[in-house]
Amino acid sequence: MVALRHYAEQRFTCAQCGRCCRRGWDIALTAGEVDGYRKAGAAAWYTETDTGTETGTVDPFEPLSGHAGHFRIRKRADGACGFLSAENRCRIHEQLGGARKPLTCRLFPFRFHPVEGKAVVSASFCCPTVVASEGEPVTAQIRALGGLYNEWARTYPEPKGSFELVAGRAVSGATVATLRDVLRTMLDHADGEGRVDLRANVRRIAGFVDDLTRHRVVKLAPERFAEYLELTGRYAAASDRPSAERRASAVGRVLSRGFLFAVLAAREQLRSPGPGMRLGLRARLVRLLAHTHGVGSAVGDVDLRAGRLVSRGFEDPAVHGLVHHYLRATVEDLGTGRRPVVDELVMAVALLNAALAFAAMRAGQAGRAAIDVAALTEGLLETMDLAHAEPGGVYARVLVSLAGGLDALWMFGEATEKIDRHG
Ligand code: SF4
Ligand code: SF4
Repeated sequence: MVALRHYAEQRFTCAQCGRCCRRGWDIALTAGEVDGYRKAGAAAWYTETDTGTETGTVDPFEPLSGHAGHFRIRKRADGACGFLSAENRCRIHEQLGGARKPLTCRLFPFRFHPVEGKAVVSASFCCPTVVASEGEPVTAQIRALGGLYNEWARTYPEPKGSFELVAGRAVSGATVATLRDVLRTMLDHADGEGRVDLRANVRRIAGFVDDLTRHRVVKLAPERFAEYLELTGRYAAASDRPSAERRASAVGRVLSRGFLFAVLAAREQLRSPGPGMRLGLRARLVRLLAHTHGVGSAVGDVDLRAGRLVSRGFEDPAVHGLVHHYLRATVEDLGTGRRPVVDELVMAVALLNAALAFAAMRAGQAGRAAIDVAALTEGLLETMDLAHAEPGGVYARVLVSLAGGLDALWMFGEATEKIDRHG
């Protein structure tokens, strides 16, 4: 069985909230799965509306564009999967048993990433139970996940990813493992009284990665680069010297607004399921674009100004715990082979920055002075849909550009309310 690398502190047991069945994602199916469901009479369990009782009138499956030989489940009018019952149950599960659910659904919230020597299994923060890290430790599920990995690798084979630090700079798996070690130590750095200052620690990471990605360092031969990382990384991680102070660049701030807009645009698309770019949706997106750039009023429930006076400090232990959990998961998952390691880090922090902006907005709208864990959870869930963008796709590449490089980390490291205060 292939070795699966995973974040050992993550917990998960499905709470059957049905959120993942309502996101409007394409549920990919093989021709064999579709054949089996059709023979079992699945059309009779499928409804086209959330209240619909009329079943058996349409074929629940349609070809998945761009993936010859694969299908997807036709979405309901509200974007949800047509097999979701009003009680949040999966009708395929009810009728045929959990083992016959689509492989895509049995995997969620996990995702596999085959890389040199082993595979990485990551857990999606689109799932509230992953965010809260509740249930059985993933470590205890690793055998079952190994079986799912084998089934997934047979069904959806893909080449093993290789590692790059930045685009065009290949590094070995061992080097990425050292980098994870160093970043983990930096993230968990505590002061003399045992306090973990997440802002300072992310700044420490930003400063170190900034140094590591300097042209002169990136150009080092592989052994010299590994040696440099080992020496400077271990030293910087163990050091008690204060982390570097640096403000994000003006360009990074402008890009962060574009990133926030991308999150909001994806959310609008999910709220308005249906083909094409309809006039109403297009008009809302234009207003949102203006609003994220500070020149327009609130759009529906989006009023970023509401979050300006809200404290985003991590003094609340529950908020601190959630942000630390997210950042630890980010570090442990680095090296999926799907994009350069630095891009993985930057994207994850940019998403967290956007989640914090949403959380502040929600807290402000509710009249609270500081974000709380409920608002941050909601912010993360609203933001993380973007993390599903296929890393090799054009959209994901645009997102990486909008994430603003290491400026995303510097913006986290400074008072985060400046992110939507436009500098
Ligand atoms: S979102 Fe998570 S907890 Fe909810 S049904 Fe999906 S996997 Fe289960
Ligand atoms: S097939 Fe079942 S588990 Fe999968 S998305 Fe539909 S309702 Fe959810």
